[in-house]
Amino acid sequence: MEYKKYIKIVEDWPKEGVQFKDITPLMDNGAAFKSAVDEIVDFAKEKAIDIIVGPEARGFIIGCPVSYALEIGFAPVRKEGKLPREVIKVDYGLEYGKNVLTLHKDAIKPGQRVLITDDLLATGGTIEATIKLVEELGGIVVGCAFLIELTYLDGRSKLDGYDVLTLMRY
Ligand code: IMP
Repeated sequence: MEYKKYIKIVEDWPKEGVQFKDITPLMDNGAAFKSAVDEIVDFAKEKAIDIIVGPEARGFIIGCPVSYALEIGFAPVRKEGKLPREVIKVDYGLEYGKNVLTLHKDAIKPGQRVLITDDLLATGGTIEATIKLVEELGGIVVGCAFLIELTYLDGRSKLDGYDVLTLMRY
């Protein structure tokens, strides 16, 4: 399916010079959203995945319907202070300052095969941090799936050796 017609590009948001890719029109179209989720399900099916992990908030939007379709669990990665039980943490650099992501310590069992999902791969910082959390708990990252890849930011260079699926490239 040609998904790009469902992505709205918003100039200078959230700040000047950024061309934000808004996925909400795609989510709003049942056939397009289902087709995108189905493509990720197909990618995941061959990998004998045990659990899906996605960073807040749009990683949940993509990951949860995939986990439902595969009848496997979903574990949320969240910003500091949001998960209620014992967590592990990772710091990662943002353009300005830094961010902390967390995952429940018992979310992944050693040896579990994990698919990571998010809406968009930009610099790769978020996904790299998410991979670190999963691997620290002994999970095996067998794939990473995104709707969109911003190739000019070269997030893929941080994903060397991982199997990456992206449905749209800009
Ligand atoms: P990265 O860490 O630089 O790869 O940025 C990816 C993260 O930022 C993802 O979790 C996205 O949800 C978010 N993000 C960055 N740019 C956009 C965009 O243009 N549209 C939607 N989300 C974005």
